[in-house]
Amino acid sequence: MLDSRLNRLRNKLKKHQLDAILLLDPVHLRYYANFTGSDGALIVTREKSLFCTDSRYTSQALTEVKADSVTEYKVKYSELVSQLDDLKSRHIGFEAPTLSVALFNKLSALQSELQWTPLEHLGELRQIKDYAELEHLEHACGINAAAFEKIIPLIRPGISEREIALELEYALRCCGGEEKAFDFIVASGWRGAYPHGVASDKVVNAGELITIDFGTRKGGYFSDETVTLAVGEIGSQLEEIYTCVLNAHDLALKALSPSISARAVDKIARDYIASCGYGKYFGHGLGHGIGLEVHEGPTLSPRSEVILTPGMVFTIEPGIYIPELGGVRIEDTVLLTNDGYRSLTSVPKSLRILPID
Ligand code: ZN
Ligand code: ZN
Repeated sequence: MLDSRLNRLRNKLKKHQLDAILLLDPVHLRYYANFTGSDGALIVTREKSLFCTDSRYTSQALTEVKADSVTEYKVKYSELVSQLDDLKSRHIGFEAPTLSVALFNKLSALQSELQWTPLEHLGELRQIKDYAELEHLEHACGINAAAFEKIIPLIRPGISEREIALELEYALRCCGGEEKAFDFIVASGWRGAYPHGVASDKVVNAGELITIDFGTRKGGYFSDETVTLAVGEIGSQLEEIYTCVLNAHDLALKALSPSISARAVDKIARDYIASCGYGKYFGHGLGHGIGLEVHEGPTLSPRSEVILTPGMVFTIEPGIYIPELGGVRIEDTVLLTNDGYRSLTSVPKSLRILPID
């Protein structure tokens, strides 16, 4: 598994005519070397991979890291530069989003003969998930479903959004989640109009919709799912926007097939919502890739250039947000397959009306 990942990285290295790539992002250290700690570096040349970390992680790295060598540094950057020097690497690629200008200047000052090339799209190499990754993603999404069912009986008029978020986080951890994927969005009633309304002290009332966007991490991989529930009977316009979002979600899922463009899938959901008269209330993209990061490629939006390929894992999450009235978002994390898709998240998405007594 790691070999094929490194091969893809080495193809990039050759394409850019580099001698080595220096990786510092913990996501890449995990993906290419199996390191689960938070600080280290991986130097990948055309033939070798060298992992380096500090004394806090040496024993851990010796156990878990798969690389041609594992060494400990005392003074991180000067020792990394000497390693590159020893390898006779002159032209070095680095992760453009990770390396700050300050660090870039520091590295350049340490060894002026090294040439540094920013690599902008390294994340694209992680878009197609392998078997081991899919297992973790499925596991993380399964934890979502188990934990969500546990907290459903608590969602009644009088509970605050913050309490729901806390109970859900606790339930996810009890079900095996490593940590929360992000600050959960729990937005009830009028707050549902905030697409990113993180849980507040607002109390849930009867007759409101409540949008809950949540996820966890397992084996380093994230789940992401949004459920919108009705707390007792809701008004007709809320019901109408719920049906519209659900239909847009279902239509986008039904359209999924190998080689469809991400932009085309976004357009199907967006056009449907517009046809219901709510186009201006759906401002964000339809979805995003997910894996070792909650938001990674491919992006599904009107500007996306990606062609969807089997093995990609991404979200489908249309929404409608109407100021003062409220909002609805419905989100699943799905795997694109050769014959369509498989949903990894499984909380039912048809409108669920919770009892209010
Ligand atoms: Zn989400
Ligand atoms: Zn999402």
